[in-house]
Amino acid sequence: MAAGAGGDLVQPVALERDAKKWEPVFGGKSRDNNGPERKPGRAIVVGAGLAGLSAAVELSRAGVRVQLVDAAPRAGGRCRSYHDPALGLTIDNGNHFVFSGNQAVARFLGTIGTAEALHGPPHASFAFHDLRDGARWTLAVNDGRLPLWLLDGTRRAPETSAADYWPLARLAMARDPAAAIGGMMPTTGLLWERVVEPMLLAVLNCDPAEGSARLAGGFLRESFLRGGRACRTMLAMPSLDAVFIDPALRWLALRGLTPRFSARLRGVEFGDEGVTALDFGAGAEPVHDAAVILAVPPWVAGDLLPGLTVPDRFCAIINAHFAIPFPAGAPLITALLGAASQWLVCHEDRISVTISGADALIDTPREALAATIWGEVSRALDLTAPMPPWQIVKEKRATFAATPAQDARRPGTATRWPNLFLAGDWVQNGLPATIEGALRSGASAAGMALAGSLRYGPAR
Ligand SMILES: Cc1cc2nc3c(=O)[nH]c(=O)nc-3n(C[C@H](O)[C@H](O)[C@H](O)COP(=O)(O)OP(=O)(O)OC[C@H]3O[C@@H](n4cnc5c(N)ncnc54)[C@H](O)[C@@H]3O)c2cc1C
Repeated sequence: MAAGAGGDLVQPVALERDAKKWEPVFGGKSRDNNGPERKPGRAIVVGAGLAGLSAAVELSRAGVRVQLVDAAPRAGGRCRSYHDPALGLTIDNGNHFVFSGNQAVARFLGTIGTAEALHGPPHASFAFHDLRDGARWTLAVNDGRLPLWLLDGTRRAPETSAADYWPLARLAMARDPAAAIGGMMPTTGLLWERVVEPMLLAVLNCDPAEGSARLAGGFLRESFLRGGRACRTMLAMPSLDAVFIDPALRWLALRGLTPRFSARLRGVEFGDEGVTALDFGAGAEPVHDAAVILAVPPWVAGDLLPGLTVPDRFCAIINAHFAIPFPAGAPLITALLGAASQWLVCHEDRISVTISGADALIDTPREALAATIWGEVSRALDLTAPMPPWQIVKEKRATFAATPAQDARRPGTATRWPNLFLAGDWVQNGLPATIEGALRSGASAAGMALAGSLRYGPAR
């Protein structure tokens, strides 16, 4: 890690060991076991976001000839980087956090060769700064599964007791798809304000009180419940493209896959056997014996497939980027309270701020947003410099709102057409709309196309 970007807080991690524990299981058996594999000769993956890339990688790994198509002139979808002329820098559309315990992330990056390119603190720690009173603290989760950190007042949020955290254990076990978080734990008090609300807002991208308890539980079980080793917050550095997208395309290119870009799927034709043809605007193209994986956003899939129910409520995320190297000694990531800004990330060459659940701010003029956020960044980092070159990236439909009602609208991977499978962060995968969920769903769709089922099993 280059100097200036988090100093010794930032260390590479190897996720390979965890990846092995969570090998996807095809058809209830490992593929090495000669499970009931039904390998299609070809597959067409429509959508080259993370879900589509994950499906393409899994299918290519299995020796299937894959065609990958996207409406955009490039891959990455909602997880992408670009060169911003206003800043003179390559930036991500938004800070994307993953966790050291994310199993599909580990498998995907392990396959394409960039597992070492995730950076985060050596131990799970979360720096908080309340701009209302200047209070700063660090939530420091111990490495092991036994939550000993809760017994140490210096590792918890100030003025919270170990007993206050008990409802989180209940939430982690939540299975009722209709339960909202607000119905399972107090949504007032210091624990809520200082820990639960900021964290779950970032994870669910909707008001945490109305968020799905089941989805929050899925997140907690796979991160905090597995101890600090599984919940270190990791960032792709230097950029999302450099870690997730470009290496995946190179890996696929080595296996003979050249994606077809700027080709928008406009229609799907069906026969008795399932999907028979896809129309990308130049007439129906027969799919022949290919399996088709639709890895497009939910509103696109809903328009293309008759009778498909999909999430229909979305929440915005706003990111602000400032072209200024961050001050020495600042944490890589800080959660801000009492501010519009929520998560402040110090990259090597820029400071980026994320605001989730940002619907109320989406129509605020960009200049006003930049000024407000820069004021908060300056206070948090004790900066006196005038506002540097900046950029505001608004994603109006960043993710579906992770409420019980929206979760209930998520379809499964299989469809009623035997050669058509769905992938995307909005397809049922037990998690909110996340990179981990998108990669899993792509792998699951590939597994179904290959063998009939794929699931991620618990670590043994
Ligand atoms: C600002 C922001 C911040 C985020 N932060 C985080 C985070 O911190 N941590 C985290 O885990 N997740 C985060 N997410 C969510 C994460 O980015 C998504 O879950 C993930 O990228 C979704 O991938 P996907 O492949 O399911 O969908 P998409 O990325 O939306 O991919 C769909 C693809 O389909 C293509 N397409 C659309 N229509 C058609 C068509 N008709 N024909 C062909 N192709 C089509 C699109 O061009 C796109 O490439 C964030 C998202 C945003 C927007």
